[in-house]
Amino acid sequence: MLRFINYDVVFQEIPDEVTLAVNISNCPNRCEGCHSPYLMEDAGMILNENILADLVEKYRNAITCVCFMGGDSSPSEVDRLAAFLRKNYSMKTGWYSGKSDIPADCFIQHFDYIKLGPYIQHLGGLNSATTNQRFYRIENGNMIDITNCFFRIYDKNPC
Ligand code: SF4
Repeated sequence: MLRFINYDVVFQEIPDEVTLAVNISNCPNRCEGCHSPYLMEDAGMILNENILADLVEKYRNAITCVCFMGGDSSPSEVDRLAAFLRKNYSMKTGWYSGKSDIPADCFIQHFDYIKLGPYIQHLGGLNSATTNQRFYRIENGNMIDITNCFFRIYDKNPC
């Protein structure tokens, strides 16, 4: 079962989108130097289709995308919720996963954006030129690496 701690409307997590970011708890990844250690606890409110629908209805005029921040403890549920959004709302979907690969039981077609990779402190996050993390836009079933866009966001370099 997925739970979430909180959510926020954000502007930098996904390039060129206004995103409702849902912070999912019970992260299993245990990255050293984790920026959000509170997300490792199994805590928060249940995240299901009904709760997600309520959130989207509340913000749908303000946002262009919903992003699942985490959910690696139950990736098939993230996939199911993304499919639900795709089917019922004209809303883009994103997923920040700390895993290096997409689980076999998840379908990239349910997402417009996927970030992969654990946080490795000495390499830095998406705003670091040395980062191990990759950020993809999904187009026609292909994963297009647009990690460079984060250098534009943070350093004003061209995307
Ligand atoms: S994936 Fe994110 S939330 Fe989970 S341990 Fe790593 S840095 Fe922390």
